[in-house]
Amino acid sequence: MKVCSRCILDEKFPGISFDDQGVCSLCQRAQMVRDRNQLMAEYRARFEELLEKRQGTGPYDILMAYSGGKDSTYTLELFIKRYDLRVLALTFDNGFISPFAIENIQCVTDQLGVDHIFIRPNFPLLKRIFATAARRDLFPPKAMERASSICTSCIGFVKSILLKTAMEKGIPFVGFGWSPGQAPVQSSVMQTNPRLASLTQKSFWPRMEKVAGEDLSRFYLSRQELSRPVADFPVNVHPLAFYPYDEEAIRTRIQRLGWQETPDTDPNSSNCLLNAFANQVHLQRWGFHPYAWEMAGIVRAGGISREQALAKIHEPPSGQLVESVRAKLGL
Ligand SMILES: [Zn+2]
Repeated sequence: MKVCSRCILDEKFPGISFDDQGVCSLCQRAQMVRDRNQLMAEYRARFEELLEKRQGTGPYDILMAYSGGKDSTYTLELFIKRYDLRVLALTFDNGFISPFAIENIQCVTDQLGVDHIFIRPNFPLLKRIFATAARRDLFPPKAMERASSICTSCIGFVKSILLKTAMEKGIPFVGFGWSPGQAPVQSSVMQTNPRLASLTQKSFWPRMEKVAGEDLSRFYLSRQELSRPVADFPVNVHPLAFYPYDEEAIRTRIQRLGWQETPDTDPNSSNCLLNAFANQVHLQRWGFHPYAWEMAGIVRAGGISREQALAKIHEPPSGQLVESVRAKLGL
């Protein structure tokens, strides 16, 4: 099997090609982006400018998607210690949060003095969606290059609930802990708006409602909310794209907040027990690991070594973990 000599993508990845040195087409494209450090500084400045205008205008400065995993824990600390923001942390409970991650969430939010809410849709609903996503892909092939069908459904809920909650509460920023492999610096500071929100909703919720067999409008913006002025819409920010990202340094730092490793999750997640199963289904269906694209991006950004990334996507999932998920989903 041909594997890129620079990142970790192999010949099974859709549309990939290799040059004479064995460097993949995605690495070649990434190289064409102008100086990454300069780009990072630009987006950092853009965020700071917006903060000056909008900080203090709502009951909280930022609503943060807090999974309790290592990246979002680090991001939460950054918002508080680096930017002195008043954060409301929100955790989407998909029914599969590791009990160790729940402990981490409580410990870290208390340590940092952060208000926190859980949102847990009823499990029968999520079970229908995840079980269907396990049987067939619910999204176009392009989306499947970056994450599994199960992960994509879950994240769609998270993003939508965050946007709706921020608008309801009048919170001017929404924060995410996307790694530099998950989301590029060019999208790291983005004003959401009615047109974009409407397009995103149309590409996601009808699929979910069809699978769920019910109206899910309580999770997304109503027509009235969509007709509010742009100024009422939050700015999305994911600062790990414009701050140096080093996985080892992040672990060391958040352990000082009392965060502990989760021994029950797979190597690509530090909060979700569903992930190992979602990965296995995707790998069997598509022939490439759903984290390959993200890990390749982190390797290019210098966040982990190529060898560490390869190990993460090659480690076979725990059979016991996968079986317990299968049973819980009734498969
Ligand atoms: Zn590559």
